[in-house]
Amino acid sequence: MTDAAPTTPPPFDCLALIGVGLIGSSLARIARRAGLAKRIVATARSAETRAKVAEMGIVDAVAPDAAACVAGADLVMVCTPVGAYAAIAAEIAPHLAPGAILSDVGSVKQAVIRDIGPLVPDGVHFIPGHPVAGTEHSGPEAGFAELFDGRWCILTPPPGTDAGAVERLAAFWRGCGSLVEEMDAGHHDRVLAITSHLPHLIAYTIVGTATDLEDSLEAEVVKFAAGGFRDFTRIAASDPIMWRDVFLNNREAVLEVLGRFSEDLSALQRAIRWGEGDKLEETFRRTRAIRRSVIEAKQA
Ligand code: NAP
Repeated sequence: MTDAAPTTPPPFDCLALIGVGLIGSSLARIARRAGLAKRIVATARSAETRAKVAEMGIVDAVAPDAAACVAGADLVMVCTPVGAYAAIAAEIAPHLAPGAILSDVGSVKQAVIRDIGPLVPDGVHFIPGHPVAGTEHSGPEAGFAELFDGRWCILTPPPGTDAGAVERLAAFWRGCGSLVEEMDAGHHDRVLAITSHLPHLIAYTIVGTATDLEDSLEAEVVKFAAGGFRDFTRIAASDPIMWRDVFLNNREAVLEVLGRFSEDLSALQRAIRWGEGDKLEETFRRTRAIRRSVIEAKQA
């Protein structure tokens, strides 16, 4: 299954969103606009967020808790930080409707299968997913209907998952504007470790290092941020809880790419120390070509 133009699939009767932050509220907005669900129900952990979502009017009903939210839903999307998944799965499992699709949007996939998989009742289709789309902002007000436009959504159905249910979920994501691809969960975690998780770790480190500089330098860092630092500050402004959970739950893959990255960094460090300009130039020429490929793939 690969990309296709957005279509309008038959709507789900009831879409339940557990967590209505950036991703959950964006899903609510696009599902309503594109007619992907006849009814949308949502819940969040805090009474404050639930009240905010009710006031914003982006869903049809706000449920007091996750168990009430999923009752009668034929599509359930877990949209919280992944560290909360095990407790949420235990709470909702007895209340899931037979035949429902249970999915999520978490940035790691093997840990999600580990935490939710064993609790899924017979007759419920469990299909983990990850929209590779986002911003550094959080909360229901940060969401927007166009977030998934032209962005990939990766589905990682465990072996033996009902193909019809996978296609139904894929059609939902295409209706959101996404391009859909199926992948093994372990492969997803390795790919995302290098394309997303490591870049975030590097951004957090650079900005952290700058914060630890002596006061006089720190002021100049902010003043002259446009020199490149600015782009890292945007990434390093991403939600701390979400990213804590990503690193704790994709530990092996992140440590593996981090090891390779450290070696490559040491090689560049050595080239600078010994004045090996040709090595530096060769590396920078190769990376420039990658940027062109990203632009051509319309993922810039
Ligand atoms: P967010 O804006 O911070 O929203 C998180 C939502 O989850 C809020 O409604 C929050 O409720 C709720 N929540 C938090 N902890 C909870 C708990 N323990 N139990 C129940 N609900 C809880 O987060 P987000 O950016 O939408 O991210 C949600 C998921 O999407 C994460 O798994 C992340 O990995 C994935 N994702 C994020 C991005 C991105 O760029 N942000 C991209 C792709 C995938 P309260 O407001 O009441 O706390």
